[in-house]
Amino acid sequence: MLSLTEQFIDNTWVPSRSVALDPVIDPYREVTIAEVTRGDPADVDAAVAAARRAMPGWRDTPEARRGEYLKAIAAGLEARREGLAELSSRNNGKPLAEAHQDMHDAIACYRYYADAAVALGRRQGQVDASGSEGISARRYWDPIGVVGLITPWNFPLVSSAWKLAPALAAGCTVVFKPSEITPLPERVLTEIIMEAGLPPGVVNLLHGDGESIGAPLCRHPGIDKLSFTGSTPVGETVMRAAAKGVRPVSLELGGKSPILVTEDADLELARDLVMAGICFNAGQMCSATSRLLVHERLADDLYAAIDAAMGALRPGNPLAEGTDMGPLVSATQRDRVQSYLAMADREGLHSKTPVPALPERGFFVAPRLYRDVPPSSRLWREEIFGPVLCARRVADDEEAIALANDSEFGLAATVVAGNPDHAEAIARRLEAGNVWCNVDQVAPPQGSWGGMKRSGIGRELGEAGLDAYLESKRITRPETH
Ligand code: NAD
Repeated sequence: MLSLTEQFIDNTWVPSRSVALDPVIDPYREVTIAEVTRGDPADVDAAVAAARRAMPGWRDTPEARRGEYLKAIAAGLEARREGLAELSSRNNGKPLAEAHQDMHDAIACYRYYADAAVALGRRQGQVDASGSEGISARRYWDPIGVVGLITPWNFPLVSSAWKLAPALAAGCTVVFKPSEITPLPERVLTEIIMEAGLPPGVVNLLHGDGESIGAPLCRHPGIDKLSFTGSTPVGETVMRAAAKGVRPVSLELGGKSPILVTEDADLELARDLVMAGICFNAGQMCSATSRLLVHERLADDLYAAIDAAMGALRPGNPLAEGTDMGPLVSATQRDRVQSYLAMADREGLHSKTPVPALPERGFFVAPRLYRDVPPSSRLWREEIFGPVLCARRVADDEEAIALANDSEFGLAATVVAGNPDHAEAIARRLEAGNVWCNVDQVAPPQGSWGGMKRSGIGRELGEAGLDAYLESKRITRPETH
């Protein structure tokens, strides 16, 4: 069995100081497929030291050259696309087609920031308004320094691409901790990084859990910035750690996103967008649209259409053709989702969703629609992170908007309306970083990703995603002729 007992530091695999190992489990077969070191704070010290040594050389590497390294990483991912999609599917439990979509997104992200690095080089020294006669000013952008990156398990290779690609384009060196639950895809990424020829110490990857690696990484004084994707409670501890030393922090946290369906919406489109928003990745999406607000005229028909679609899903082997939904990522995650189903029973909530046949093994939870859930219910308010949809019927757009915004989260939303202008007018009033109108949840690298309220701080992707790793510097001097 594969034993990940080493840490990737300075482009070599060095034994972790920890002897403790945690199992890596295939959530469909419920078997251990690897074991991974729990990690040790001393590993963090070694990785941060390597990243600090590499920093001057990487900062001074021309932006266009850094872009070439990113292109090489994209090419490496492309070359291993099939194998990596399969590995990701096996480790995470997501259907193979979804893992292929992840590969597409990750590759596009490295390519986008390869070009962004070149553009950054071009804008260095751009003339700024000086504001005074005889004085000139220019603008430059420096990398923030050594960055600590932490990701969850739901989109292996994608969450890391959204951080690694802009950080490297900006000229930052990196200590990166992937989730201990899905360490396998990013393990292969280190091979790709070596093949791409990145200098030692530019990317260091530490396996391990939150206590042994995540928290020490956040506390480490050698880290100049933290970028974290994960749950809101852990995000708060990351932010507290960043306060020491006044270090910047980017947080991509949880959500309880709404999907609004207006009176004139197309029923089939509404059903399809609802299904994609709650069943993709078995609902384990930060942007899952888990609260449905539907106009009362359409409510009963839409509920029936969703129940029929959920009942017709084919949960099964994520690697087999024809599987629509895989298992949840772990027994812990399954138990967490089931605890909400038990809570629904206790609260007397109503689900008529037919349960499709589930495989005998695997951490499966059948998708469910709960109708007319009161906004005071914990199921309505809390992130469940599984295929559980709570719905309410509303009298008009105003009620839908008010209920949509009545949440501590503000990551994403979908609006389904008869015409896109109407949908966009509603979208403008929603408290969410991303709103999709009559379209699926697309997230191209040119875009922007991040949440309002307790869903996070900052934006990933696009120009903002690069700026998150840069310090802007203005240089003012007398004009010379
Ligand atoms: P999690 O917060 O438990 O773990 C995320 C990462 O943080 C893991 O690598 C974990 O080992 C590490 N970690 C745990 N404790 C830590 C600590 N004290 N200090 C530092 N690091 C620590 O989240 P999860 O269960 O892996 O992922 C699910 C959560 O992630 C959900 O809440 C989901 O909404 C969120 N998420 C958000 C986005 C987004 O873009 N906003 C994307 C994906 C997932």
